[in-house]
Amino acid sequence: MQTVTLNNGVEMPILGFGVYQIPPEQTEQAVTDALAAGYRLLDTAAAYMNEQAVGRAIKASGVPREELFVTTKLWISDAGEENARRAFEASLRKLGLDYLDLYLIHQPYGDVYGSRRAMESLHREGRIKAIGVSNFYPDRLVDLIDHNEITPAVNQIETHPFFQRTADQQLMRERGMQLQSWEPFAEGREGLFSHPVLSEIGAAHGKSVAQVVLRWLIRRDVVVIPKSVRPERVAENLDVFDFALTDEQMARIAALDHTGPGDERLVFDQGDTGNGGIGRDQVAEVLIRSLLTGAAIGRTFELFAEPGAVPADWSGLFTALTPDTAGVLDAPPTRTRCRP
Ligand code: NAP
Repeated sequence: MQTVTLNNGVEMPILGFGVYQIPPEQTEQAVTDALAAGYRLLDTAAAYMNEQAVGRAIKASGVPREELFVTTKLWISDAGEENARRAFEASLRKLGLDYLDLYLIHQPYGDVYGSRRAMESLHREGRIKAIGVSNFYPDRLVDLIDHNEITPAVNQIETHPFFQRTADQQLMRERGMQLQSWEPFAEGREGLFSHPVLSEIGAAHGKSVAQVVLRWLIRRDVVVIPKSVRPERVAENLDVFDFALTDEQMARIAALDHTGPGDERLVFDQGDTGNGGIGRDQVAEVLIRSLLTGAAIGRTFELFAEPGAVPADWSGLFTALTPDTAGVLDAPPTRTRCRP
C-alpha cells in the first residue's frame, strides 16, 4: 500500500476504510471484509457508536497490530483536558487497543485547547502516534498551529470532485499538514456515480467512477477513506493502483469543482450521537460560536437533524440567545436536510 509520511515521520496508508453511518451490528462484518480485502487504515469515531465493533473485527482478524493504522475521533461533548483524556481511554478500551495511530478532534468546537493539551501529553507518553483535527477551516487551523506545541499531522475535511479544497490543501502543505478526505464520493450526491465526465474517464481506463475519484484524490496526495458495506465495492475501492489519470483527465476533473462562498459549508450532524448527540441547544451553541469566531460568515450551514429537532424559527432563536449577533447572519441556516 502506498503511504504518506506525516510531519512527525509516521507512515500513513493513503487509502483506508471509513465506518461512518455503518450501524454497530453491521460494522464488525464490514471491517472484517475490509481487512480481508487488504485495507489496513480504519477510520472510526466515538460519535459513530461503533468503536467496539471495529475492535472486535480487529481482534478476530489476526492482523498484527503494527500493520494497522487506526484512527478515532474526540467528540464535541468530550472537549477539554480532563474530558479528552477520559474519552481517549474509553475509545481505546472499546477498540481493544493499547495505542492509537491517529486521534482527531472531530469538530472545531468546545475547549479545543484543553483537548490539544491532553492529546499532546498522550502523544508524549507514546499512546497516540499522531494527533490531528477534522473539519477545521483555515482560520481555526492557523490559530491552533500557531498556539500549540505540536502542529496537527492531519486535517480530515470534506473533499470530493464538487468541493475540491485546493486552497485548504495549499495551506496545509505550507504548514506541513496532511489533507485527508471525508466523503470522497459526496455520498453519491449530485449524481456523482453517473456523472458524464467521470464516467467517460472511467470508461477510458476500464474503471468505475468510484475508482476514478479515488485515483484522482490519491494523485493529489490526499488520503482517502471510502465507506461501503458491500464486499464487492469494498474490493473495488481498493483496486485503484493499476492505472494513472492523464494531465488532461486531471484538468477535466478539476473543472468540476464548484466551490464558492456558498459551498464553504459548515456541517452540523445531529446523527453524530456520541454521548447523547447534539440537541437543539447544542446546535445553536456551535452555530453561534462559529459566528462569533467569524468561521460562519458567508458559509452555508448544512444541518442534518431529526425531524422536529430543527427549530422552526432560527432567526428568533439567534436573537434570543445572542442579541449582539442578530443580523450578522442573513438567513440562518441557509440549508437544512432532515433525516427521513
Ligand atoms: P462516501 O465514502 O463519500 O460515500 C459512501 C456512500 O457511497 C455509501 O452510500 C456507499 O454505499 C457508496 N459507495 C461506496 N463505494 C461505492 C462504489 N464503489 N460504487 C458505488 N457506490 C459506492 O461517504 P462517507 O461514508 O460519509 O465518507 C467516508 C468516510 O469518511 C466515513 O465512513 C468516515 O469514516 C469519514 N467521515 C468523516 C467525517 C468527519 O466529520 N470527520 C464526516 C463524514 C465522513 P454502500 O455502503 O451501500 O456501498
